[in-house]
Amino acid sequence: MTIFEQPLVKAVGAKAAKRLAALDLETAGDLLRHYPRRYAQRGELTDLDSLAEGEYVTVLAEVEKIQGRKISKRPGYLLEVTVTDGRGLLTLTFFGKGAYIPERELPPGTHGLFAGKVSFFGSGRHLKRQLVHPEYKPLAGGDLTGAAREFAEELIPVYPAAKGVTSWQIADCVRILLDAADLGDDALPEHVRRRHRLIGLSEAYQGIHRPRDMAEAGRARKRLKWDEAFVLQTALARRRRAAAELAATPRPPAAGGLLAAFDARLPFDLTEGQRAVGDEIAADLARTHPMHRLLQGDVGAGKTVVGLRAMLQVVDAGGQAALLAPTEVLAQQHHRSIVAMLGPLAQAGQLGGAEHAEHATRVALLTGSQGAKARRAGLLDAASGSAGIVVGTHALLQEHVQFADLGLVVIDEQHRFGVEQRDALREKATGGRPHVLVMTATPIPRTVAMTVYGDLDTSALTQLPAGRSPIATHVVPSGNRAYWDRAWERIREEAAKGRQAYVVCPRIGDEEPSSSPDDVPEDGPEDDGARRPPLAVLDVAPKLTEGPLHGLRLDVLHGRMHPDEKDAVMRRFAAGELDVLVATTVIEVGVDVPNATVMVVMDADRFGVSQLHQLRGRVGRGRHAGLCLLVTDAVEESKARERLDAVASTLDGFELSRIDLEQRREGDVLGESQSGRRSSLRLLTLLRDEEIIKEARAEATTLVEADPELRDHPALAAELATLVDEERAEYLEKA
Ligand code: ADP
Ligand code: MG
Repeated sequence: MTIFEQPLVKAVGAKAAKRLAALDLETAGDLLRHYPRRYAQRGELTDLDSLAEGEYVTVLAEVEKIQGRKISKRPGYLLEVTVTDGRGLLTLTFFGKGAYIPERELPPGTHGLFAGKVSFFGSGRHLKRQLVHPEYKPLAGGDLTGAAREFAEELIPVYPAAKGVTSWQIADCVRILLDAADLGDDALPEHVRRRHRLIGLSEAYQGIHRPRDMAEAGRARKRLKWDEAFVLQTALARRRRAAAELAATPRPPAAGGLLAAFDARLPFDLTEGQRAVGDEIAADLARTHPMHRLLQGDVGAGKTVVGLRAMLQVVDAGGQAALLAPTEVLAQQHHRSIVAMLGPLAQAGQLGGAEHAEHATRVALLTGSQGAKARRAGLLDAASGSAGIVVGTHALLQEHVQFADLGLVVIDEQHRFGVEQRDALREKATGGRPHVLVMTATPIPRTVAMTVYGDLDTSALTQLPAGRSPIATHVVPSGNRAYWDRAWERIREEAAKGRQAYVVCPRIGDEEPSSSPDDVPEDGPEDDGARRPPLAVLDVAPKLTEGPLHGLRLDVLHGRMHPDEKDAVMRRFAAGELDVLVATTVIEVGVDVPNATVMVVMDADRFGVSQLHQLRGRVGRGRHAGLCLLVTDAVEESKARERLDAVASTLDGFELSRIDLEQRREGDVLGESQSGRRSSLRLLTLLRDEEIIKEARAEATTLVEADPELRDHPALAAELATLVDEERAEYLEKA
C-alpha cells in the first residue's frame, strides 16, 4: 500500500481524520490532492468589503480594536473584535465564557487568519459584516517558533474548507503527511518528466501545498496537471489498443450493390466532406477489427446520408445494420425518411419492389411503444435477417431483440446514450464485434474529444450542404411590446407564404410534478426557486390560438403525449397540414421539416447554449432563409442574456460549444462522478490545458505501444488501477 491509500486515521490521527471527513477526505491521497484554492500573501490582507453574505471564508486581517463587556442577559459576556484590511472592517463576535480566550490571544496589531460564515447586520452606510464565533489563528510576527512555524513562508495556502475544519487545520495535517511520508515511486516516467521539464513527485506536492513563491506553485501545478492528463490518456490508450485487438467481420464495399444503386438515386451530390468521411468509414468497415468512429457534424450537415451509406455497404456485404435514435419521434422519422430515400431499394419481398431493383432489403422499425403485431414483425425481420436495416430506440437494447448477423451499429445523436448502452448493443453481434459509428451534432471541443472520447477515432463534417439557407437569430426582450407583436406577425407572414413555424417552451404544463426529461433543460441555468415557473406548451398554445396566431392551424407536441399521437402530429406537420407546432425540446434533435422557417423560443434563457443551437437547427433546412427569435425577460448584461447574445451572434457550433464548456464546471462536463471525491481531474481543465492534454496523449500512446501491460511502469499501473470506471466521462449524457 502506498501512502496515498493509507487511511487518514492512521496518517494524522483519529481526531483530525474525523474533521477531514467533513470534506469527504478519507485517505492520505485524498488529502494530498485537496489542493489549495489560492495562496494568501503574508502581509497582504484580504479585501474585507468583497465578502459576500452567507459565504464561508478564511480571511487574513489585522486586529484593530477589541472590546469585551459583561451583559446582563445570558450568556453573560460579549466580546467584539474588529479586524481590518487597512480600509474595510469585519466584526468578530464571541459570546459566553469562551470569549475570554480570544480576548487574550488577539491583542490589537495581531495578524491572524479568521474563518467562519459571513453575516450582515445594519444597513446602508452602517452595514457591517461579521463572523459569529469564528475559528481563528493568530500569526506571530518576527521570531517564529513551534506551531506558528508553518506560516513562516510568504505564502499561506487557503484550502477549500468546511464547517468544522479550517484551512489551517488542513494545512497542519498536510504538513504531517509531507514531513513524514515517502510518496513512493513516481508514476510519471522519468523520460517524460525530462522531456517536458516536469519536477519530481514529492517536490510537486511540497510545491503545491507549501510553495516558497508563486513560481514554485506554478511548477507544481503543471507537474500535477500532467499526472492527471497522463494517467487518463494511458487508460484511453490501453482501451484503444484493446479495442484494436478485437475481431470483427470485415464488410468491404461491393461493386454493383445496394450502395451503388442508392448513390445513383440520390437527388443531390454528396459534399466533399461527406465523400471523404464516407471513404474513411468504408475503409474501416473493410478491416478485421471493429470500427469505433465518432462522426461530428453540425446540425444539418448531412450525417444521416453518411450513416445510411455505411449501413448499405454492410448490407451489401451480407450483414445487418442497426440505427439507434434517442427518441421515438426521431426513430420514426429516420425510419420514414430512410424508407423514402431508398424507395424500391427498401421493398424486398414486396410486390412491385424487387422488380424495380436488382438488389433490395427491408427496413424494420422497433420502438418501445409499438403495437404487439408491428413489434413481432420487426423482431422477426431482425432475427431472420430479412431486414438489412433495423431502426429503433432503446427498445433495440433489450435482451430478446436478436439479429441474424449484426455488422454495424450507428448511433445517432449519441449525447443521449451512455457508454453502457453502447456496450449493450455491441454485445448483440455474434461472431466478432460489430463496427460502431457514433454520430453527434453537439460539436465537441478538441480537448473533450481527446478525453471523453479518447477511445474513438473521430471524423467531422465541417461544411453544410450547398444551398442551405442562413438562419438569422435575434434576442427579443419579452417586456418590449413592439418586438413581441412583431414576432407573431413574422409567423403569420411566413404562414401566408405557405411556410411553417415552431414555438418552443421549456415546460409541458400539465401540472404533474415534473418527471419527463424534456420538461427541464438539462444544461440550462439552475433554478433559483424564486423565479416564476417557465412558460408551458399547454398554456401558451391556447393563448396563441385565441390571440396573435388566431386562424392558423396549430397543434402541440411534448414528451408526455402517447407515441402514436406524437407521431401523428409530426406527420401532419411534415405534410404541411399544420402551420405552427408548439412544442417542448422533443423537437430538439434531428427533426427535419425543410419547409419550417421560423422558430420562436419562449423563455429562451432557460435553455443552455448548445441546446438553443440544436433547436435553431430545425429551421433554415430548406430553400428558404430561417429565422430564430429568442424571447426572454432576462435583463441586459445578465449572464443569461450574455449567453443568448452569444447564440445570436454566431452559427458556429464549435464556438458555441466552447462557450458552453466555459460556463459549466468541469465536473458537469465530465459527469457526476468527476466532481466527487474520487475525481481524477482536479487541476486539469479541458478548456485551458489543451497543450498538456495533447502532449500527454502522445506520450501515453507511445508508452502503451511499447509496453501495453505496463510491466516496466508498476507505479503507473497502480495509478490506473485506482482510476475507477465510473470516471469515464459521460459528457454526452449531460450535454
Ligand atoms: P444532420 O447532420 O443534422 O443529421 P441531416 O442528415 O438530417 O442532417 O441532413 C439535413 C438535410 O440535408 C436532409 O434533408 C438531407 O436530405 C439534406 N442533405 C444531406 N446531404 C446533402 C447534400 N450533399 N446536398 C444537399 N442536401 C443534403
Ligand atoms: Mg440527424
